[in-house]
Amino acid sequence: MNTKISSDFKPDAVVVGGGIAGLQSALDMADQDLKVLVVERNASIGGHMIALSKVFPTLDCASCITTPKMSAAAHHENIQILTNTEVQAIESGDGVHRVKLLQKPTYVNFDKCIGCRLCEYACDTEFRDRFEEGLGAVRAIAVPFTNAIPQKAVLDAEHCLTCGTCARVCPTDAIEFDQKPRRLTIETQAVIVASGFELNSVTLKPQYNAARSQNVIAPMTLERLLAPHGPYGRVLRPSDGKIPGSVAFVQCAGSRDESIGVSYCSRVCCMYAIKQAMLLSGALPLADITIYYMDIRAFGKGYEQFFQNAKAMGINFVRGKVARIDPLQGGDLRLHVETTEDAENPMQERVHDLVVLAQGMIPGWNPAQISPVACATDGFVATPSLTAPTATTAPGIFTAGTAAGPKDIVDTIAEAGAAAMQACQYLYQKREAALVG
Ligand SMILES: Cc1cc2nc3c(=O)[nH]c(=O)nc-3n(C[C@H](O)[C@H](O)[C@H](O)COP(=O)(O)OP(=O)(O)OC[C@H]3O[C@@H](n4cnc5c(N)ncnc54)[C@H](O)[C@@H]3O)c2cc1C
Repeated sequence: MNTKISSDFKPDAVVVGGGIAGLQSALDMADQDLKVLVVERNASIGGHMIALSKVFPTLDCASCITTPKMSAAAHHENIQILTNTEVQAIESGDGVHRVKLLQKPTYVNFDKCIGCRLCEYACDTEFRDRFEEGLGAVRAIAVPFTNAIPQKAVLDAEHCLTCGTCARVCPTDAIEFDQKPRRLTIETQAVIVASGFELNSVTLKPQYNAARSQNVIAPMTLERLLAPHGPYGRVLRPSDGKIPGSVAFVQCAGSRDESIGVSYCSRVCCMYAIKQAMLLSGALPLADITIYYMDIRAFGKGYEQFFQNAKAMGINFVRGKVARIDPLQGGDLRLHVETTEDAENPMQERVHDLVVLAQGMIPGWNPAQISPVACATDGFVATPSLTAPTATTAPGIFTAGTAAGPKDIVDTIAEAGAAAMQACQYLYQKREAALVG
């Protein structure tokens, strides 16, 4: 798998993105005997889900349910996967989609690399680990994370000192310092855009002072702190390693706000904040945990009960808007809150050790100018038909998961299956028409 696709592999469909949506779509199409190419720009498949700690509403371990899907896709005879490869454009005409790819050099020959990590252990250069949201360190040549797929080392050219140690210790001679970026064009009949989401910046609202305090953190940072195999193996405050005694969640910190250009609701923040609060109360039984919210959107199956369980566990829910966060000496944070719960004293100040900002979900990729796929006003892929919700504006191109808008895993998986079914139908109808014609 991975640095190249076999010359006899002619994909019926290309999937943009190897997150959970892309993998599910690929598996469903491949099980229908279609050949599928999954293109992922990161060094591993798995998307955001592989980095989560546990998932609402079941509190299943995220990597325990994501890894089998990753592995199934990687071992499926009808699926090929290109990692470190970005879809840059899609040109469509005469019923064919030409998918333009940029393959980034990994400086490791994946056919030779056996994932032994000897290069990683020998490397002296460390930098902040993006997978651990900057909390841990990673070597300049490393397998991206424990359960990454593929289990191949990738060299970070930005941080590598080209000392040659990795090449000297590699038992299979896999290090190739002279790799160059490669451009490829893949012809296919159908495409599924499963390019997912990103989160907007924690520093977007200067009044929350995330740029001035390491203790105003992103929710993905807390996911990593809560993960059993996370950077510290327990929850510690980033600035000084203190065990937090009081944690605040500030909801709608990057969504439902015209002033930052995200007027829509990101849909999963209420639920992941409740999940994280519950996991925190397990990890830090003595901690005081407060969720500041405008309204709780517990929309899915079993979600209202999940919310009620959190209240019963002693999580504090304060209805109100956090106006400002002031960093205090020593690392604590003073929140200025306008609450609707105390008519006589609506403006309150509360001090917490650690604050988690519910950032807004924004599109992971914008195909609008570089493909026939249009985007809606919110920037996510447009899905104009209510009765075919995975169809885009371009025939033969479908979409799944958060590429089309914020959603949870359950809806992402359901949509990925629907997109695969639509793509299969489209391809079979084309084949039948070709036979008749
Ligand atoms: C903090 C947090 C906690 C959450 N917790 C839960 C939870 O407990 N339960 C739950 O149901 N949901 C949860 N969610 C939501 C969940 O993460 C998403 O529903 C799910 O991950 C969406 O998967 P996806 O495949 O659509 O997108 P992604 O996971 O974003 O995958 C998209 C992939 O596409 C790739 N890509 C993008 N553009 C290109 C391109 N041009 N070329 C190649 N590759 C590309 C990206 O690199 C990425 O790997 C949480 C979200 C957050 C932010």
